[in-house]
Amino acid sequence: MDIYLGNLFRPPSEAYSVILQVTNGCSHNKCTFCGMYKDKRFVIRPLREIKEIINFFQRKFPYAEKIFLADGDALSAPTEYLQEVLTLLKDAFPNLKQISSYAGPKSLLNKTDEELKQLQNSGLTLLYLGLESGFDVVLKKVQKGYTANEIVSACDKAKKAGFKLSLTVITGLGGKEYWQEHALESAKAVSLINPEYLATLTLMLVPGTKLFQDALDGLFFPLTTREILQELRLFISNLNLNHTVYRSNHASNYLILKGTLNEDRDQLLKILNEAINNEGFFNLRPEYLRRL
Ligand code: SF4
Repeated sequence: MDIYLGNLFRPPSEAYSVILQVTNGCSHNKCTFCGMYKDKRFVIRPLREIKEIINFFQRKFPYAEKIFLADGDALSAPTEYLQEVLTLLKDAFPNLKQISSYAGPKSLLNKTDEELKQLQNSGLTLLYLGLESGFDVVLKKVQKGYTANEIVSACDKAKKAGFKLSLTVITGLGGKEYWQEHALESAKAVSLINPEYLATLTLMLVPGTKLFQDALDGLFFPLTTREILQELRLFISNLNLNHTVYRSNHASNYLILKGTLNEDRDQLLKILNEAINNEGFFNLRPEYLRRL
């Protein structure tokens, strides 16, 4: 039996976690910028396979402290199924400190408050959620499937159930047409959510995706490196957060930024201004080293 099926993705902060692939693919799989799971049909892996994989991991990583449930939207699996997986993990790994997964707005909105609380109590404590943009025009264009308000509601529900949230926004997603609205409305939505963690990724046009084709057809105009940094400056300037850990350290980003918001905002803006004013001489990640 294969431990992993097809391409596997995980957040940068889960680099040292055991990755347990409970689902294969993404239950939504329609976002026009995303090529991660385009070759997969979404399935929930049978529990008997998961039991075998957990046994294997138990022998290989008996002291594991962090486990990430892949693929795209593990939370969309039925609550009883997830509950059983969480119980198996807690029994198998006595040193376990954190279980996390990606979560789409749909899976959060589809579960009752009680179900979410039950999963959180059973050890799933951190959810990674892609806001991508807080501007509805952009969300609609990229076929995220939900408005900003709906995503904010889904996040509120998760927070009320006790989950920690790690949110991502994609700089450049509005292109030249909507970069200001994308920055300002994303800052507004993120501020309403006030997540524990916030990450900005930078748009990469992936061959085979609709957005890639739109760019080729002259229907989407990507930002230049400098414009990406200007958008990020506008976004960060308008955030109103209470002790959110912020990272811009994904491999898609031109500039690495780390801090706590809003506390470190002035320092982050200073670095951004220096990069914008001295782009050619600043230590930006070159295009050929960027990846998803
Ligand atoms: S961005 Fe997330 S929700 Fe959208 S298709 Fe990709 S994995 Fe699925």
